[in-house]
Amino acid sequence: MGLQAYSGSGWILTKLEDLINWGRKRSPWPLPYGTACCGIEMMCALASGYDMARFGAERPSFSPRQADVLIEAGTITKKMVPILKRIYDQMAEPKWVIAMGACACSGGVFRTYSTLQGIDKVIPVDVYVPGCPPRPEGLLYALIKVMEKIEKDHPLRKQFDQLKLGVDNGA
Ligand code: SF4
Repeated sequence: MGLQAYSGSGWILTKLEDLINWGRKRSPWPLPYGTACCGIEMMCALASGYDMARFGAERPSFSPRQADVLIEAGTITKKMVPILKRIYDQMAEPKWVIAMGACACSGGVFRTYSTLQGIDKVIPVDVYVPGCPPRPEGLLYALIKVMEKIEKDHPLRKQFDQLKLGVDNGA
C-alpha cells in the first residue's frame, strides 16, 4: 500500500493525488487535547515504549494551525465545548479527529448534566477508540485508521469540484 509509482532510469511517474496523500500520510501531526485520565494513556503512546514516531506522528503540535489530527483524550464538560470547537475550527484543512476513550466517545460513566455525551455532538469524529481507559495500542490503531483514510482521500478532486461549483454559480 502507499505511493503507486512507475519508475525507470532517471524518471518517476505517479498521480499527483497519490504523492500528496503519501506525504500527508507520513506526517500526521497530532494536536493532543488531553483533559482527563485518557490523556495519560495518550502521553504513554507518545513515549519511547510505543513510539508514535514510527508513523511520522512524533511531533505533537499545541498550535491548531500546525496540526492535522486532533486527539481528544478524556472527558469534555459542556463548559469546554466552545474551546474544543474553536480549536477544531482553527485547524487548517484537511484535518482529522480521534475520540479517545469512552468519555470522549459517549460521555463514559459520566451521565451528568455537565458532561458532553460524546464529542461528535459538536465536532465530526473520524475514528473512535473504545475503552476506559483505552490502551496506547488502541490509539496507535486509530492513527493507522486515520492514515488509511488519508490514503483514500482525493484532495485535488475536491478542489476541482469547488472550482466547478464556483463557475456554475457564476462566481
Ligand atoms: S474514558 Fe475512563 S480513563 Fe478515559 S477519561 Fe474517561 S474515565 Fe478516564
